[in-house]
Amino acid sequence: MKNDRFDFEEEFHARDKKQFRKERKRLTEGDRSKFKKTDQTKKDTVIDDTLPRGQVVSITGEGIWVEHENNRVLCALRGGLKKEKLLVKNLVAVGDFVRLDLETSSIVQIEPRFSTLARTEIRGQREQLIAVNIDQVVIVAPLVEPPLKPALIDRYLIAAAKGNIRPIIVLNKTDLLDENPTETALYHEFLAAYEPLGFPILSVSTTTHAGIDALRSLLQGKTTVFAGQSGVGKSSLLNAAFGLSLKTGELAQKTYKGTHTTTTAELITLPGGGHVVDTPGTRSFTLWNLTREDVVAHFRDLGVWAKECRFPDCGHVAEPGCAVLKALKEGKLPLMRYESYCSLLEEAAGGADNRTRRKMSEE
Ligand code: GDP
Ligand code: ZN
Repeated sequence: MKNDRFDFEEEFHARDKKQFRKERKRLTEGDRSKFKKTDQTKKDTVIDDTLPRGQVVSITGEGIWVEHENNRVLCALRGGLKKEKLLVKNLVAVGDFVRLDLETSSIVQIEPRFSTLARTEIRGQREQLIAVNIDQVVIVAPLVEPPLKPALIDRYLIAAAKGNIRPIIVLNKTDLLDENPTETALYHEFLAAYEPLGFPILSVSTTTHAGIDALRSLLQGKTTVFAGQSGVGKSSLLNAAFGLSLKTGELAQKTYKGTHTTTTAELITLPGGGHVVDTPGTRSFTLWNLTREDVVAHFRDLGVWAKECRFPDCGHVAEPGCAVLKALKEGKLPLMRYESYCSLLEEAAGGADNRTRRKMSEE
């Protein structure tokens, strides 16, 4: 009996390992080609510092809008650069720092980028840049209406890490906590689970203005992108912090559908300095390639325990000798973190049913 079980485990893991290796090979190959596509055009470029400098604020049907010394100039790509365009979906992106020939209104050089926010094109394998040279991403998550979804926050945290963008978690609608004890409990559970991870977390409300001054100073002088599902309060927060008049609620969704100027992202200049990337809807941030490696790298708090699992390739689902499940049972690992890990892993694997796994972890 004992032997049978042992053989089964061996076989299970041998198969798993093979699958994992195959998957890893596929992923690293994919990653390499992606890297090449983004960077090959920039490698040998020597930037001419004597040329006027500007920043791409939006790309529309009319052309590329570049901000140069507080003016907006409608530009086109110079011929030489256009050839390179064949290699990438979008050679120039919102947020790019460019060198200009003002006489012909053309972009002659594109400076190397320090960060990118990308998604995979819906059809095909090319990478599509949403915006570049972003300092930070504000992940807006409401505490109530709709309730907090930690897995969604982790998803954005992974996206930020991949794009080399500093994440800030903003928990919104704190004004609604008083009347909602369940959500309040969830809020405290979230703080206990996520504060030790070291990410900046700010609790705010556009209704009471709590935390809005702190948010404003975090955004001042920086280029920030807001992430979060529709209706979480992104526009309301910007309006509250900077006196802007971005449309909110249902009205905002209607206008976005009808607009043709903001089919891609747009840089909004903030009063007092800094920019915010405005994007039509938020679907842009949910369409990117999540890999098993991304998930494992992000959940470092699980990794601490994983080192002690009996099998080095333990998936922490139902394997014998799993130290992660043991830590969970003993209350050393927050259930919220484990659940988020499971749901993201499921997504990375392409949506396998993990209800059974959850059940097991709760036993
Ligand atoms: P966006 O789609 O992320 O830009 O979200 P909106 O800014 O349009 O806000 C969606 C809805 O949430 C609107 O009806 C806002 O009035 C509401 N809302 C935004 N912030 C708060 C808040 O702090 N408290 C409450 N109670 N409602 C908020
Ligand atoms: Zn394990």
